[in-house]
Amino acid sequence: MCDFEEFVFTCSHSIIRLKSYCHFARNDPHHQCFGVKKLRNVWDQTTECEKCRERHANQWNSQAQGYGYGGYGFQGGHSSS
Ligand SMILES: [Zn+2]
Ligand SMILES: [Zn+2]
Repeated sequence: MCDFEEFVFTCSHSIIRLKSYCHFARNDPHHQCFGVKKLRNVWDQTTECEKCRERHANQWNSQAQGYGYGGYGFQGGHSSS
């Protein structure tokens, strides 16, 4: 069982990082683990994830020519279905 930790961002995205390999994975030439992944820590972040920050930065750049805050494109993750 390898140890993982999760980073939860304000945009509700999260990433999981490997914290440390277990004994089996360490001894495997490809660091493969056939056990259960163990989540050791969950870290609440105070920012959005890198992708969201990048996307927002691009949005603001493309809206910079007179449009300002148009109110579109900020509907969150819910699609109308
Ligand atoms: Zn493992
Ligand atoms: Zn995000």
